[in-house]
Amino acid sequence: MKIIEFSVQSRHRCELINITSRIEQIRCEKRLTDGIITLYTPHTTAAITINENADPDVPRDILYGLTRLVPDDPQFQHIEGNSDAHIKSSLVGISETLLVEAGKLQLGTWQGIFFCEFDGPRTRQIKVKLSEL
Ligand code: ZN
Repeated sequence: MKIIEFSVQSRHRCELINITSRIEQIRCEKRLTDGIITLYTPHTTAAITINENADPDVPRDILYGLTRLVPDDPQFQHIEGNSDAHIKSSLVGISETLLVEAGKLQLGTWQGIFFCEFDGPRTRQIKVKLSEL
């Protein structure tokens, strides 16, 4: 199957955007019942992660923790001034692999899929590759 692309509009500099229903919609439209889905975001200041989807304080705390881990630092030399965002992107990672079996994404009860914006607001792209197995 060809790569499917969709865009996400972030509204803040740092933000986690839940994309679980969008991925499930693509899986359903393409009738993938058994296989894997690879998610990829072609950006250097964004990422994709899977984490708790129940308590909205968890995404907030993830952003807070990442900002404490990688604060803006006057020693950074990158001219764009967004080195913290580049580092967060590398720490979290720009792709995820999802398992699909019996017509269902094999996420845990509390898991959701999040696009991570670290240098917004911007329009971002997400690439989705479905592979039947
Ligand atoms: Zn930069």
